[in-house]
Amino acid sequence: LIRFDNVTKRFGKNTVLDNLCFSVKPGKHVTLIGPSGSGKTTILRLLMTLMKPEEGTIHVNGQQLYPTQGEKQLREIRKNIGMVFQQFNLFPNMTVLRNITEAPVRVLGLSKDEAEQRARDLLDLVGLGDRCDAKPTQLSGGQQQRVAIARALAMRPQVLLLDEVTSALDPELVAGVLDVLRDIARTTDITMLCVTHEMNFARDISDDVLMFDSGRVIESGPPEKIFGDPEHERTREFLGAVL
Ligand code: ATP
Repeated sequence: LIRFDNVTKRFGKNTVLDNLCFSVKPGKHVTLIGPSGSGKTTILRLLMTLMKPEEGTIHVNGQQLYPTQGEKQLREIRKNIGMVFQQFNLFPNMTVLRNITEAPVRVLGLSKDEAEQRARDLLDLVGLGDRCDAKPTQLSGGQQQRVAIARALAMRPQVLLLDEVTSALDPELVAGVLDVLRDIARTTDITMLCVTHEMNFARDISDDVLMFDSGRVIESGPPEKIFGDPEHERTREFLGAVL
């Protein structure tokens, strides 16, 4: 579903992704781990078309995202990709319900009623069925992040990108958000690509873990292998420091 072939991304002289190759099959949950600055977030940003690679090709769902084949195709591919950010990025002056219905109405052309029904179902799923009329500022960080997850899912994307979704949260709110994501991973066939520092979460939900260093995947495999018996010295060092 997602394929990076020899992707290179530079910022000035800084090569952040270096001939990167990896792929994610439909319905799989893949986690990117690795030291800070190793290029994990950059991968998600490329997929969200927030930036372009200098070299290489990226395919999503069999369609070529880069090198780009025009704005129209880029937009079509983007519709299939949802993202949840570290900072929740909710629209502050809209209610929770409106935050979720906005894009389905505008982008997918759903009727207001259809979009609201979908939003209410999703708010039930993330445990916030009773907070439809609240404003984001009236919610805790964990609740806001659960709204952001519902908002991403409301577009029914094939792919959900999660960028360190718990790192801005107070520690006691982390578990609630991770539980919601575990549920989604278990009960839907959505493809997930997560960047996370939560190694237990990575171990729980991942089909595959990719260990990153200096813009390359240095090791990949099922979580039991990466966490239990890593081959690469850098992986052992990294896990030793974070676990
Ligand atoms: P972290 O875990 O800290 O979020 P990361 O692995 O996600 O790290 P990236 O955010 O992808 O790393 O950043 C990789 C490198 O690219 C860093 O050295 C960063 O300084 C650089 N970088 C990222 N975005 C930009 C930008 N817009 N302009 C210039 N340099 C950037």
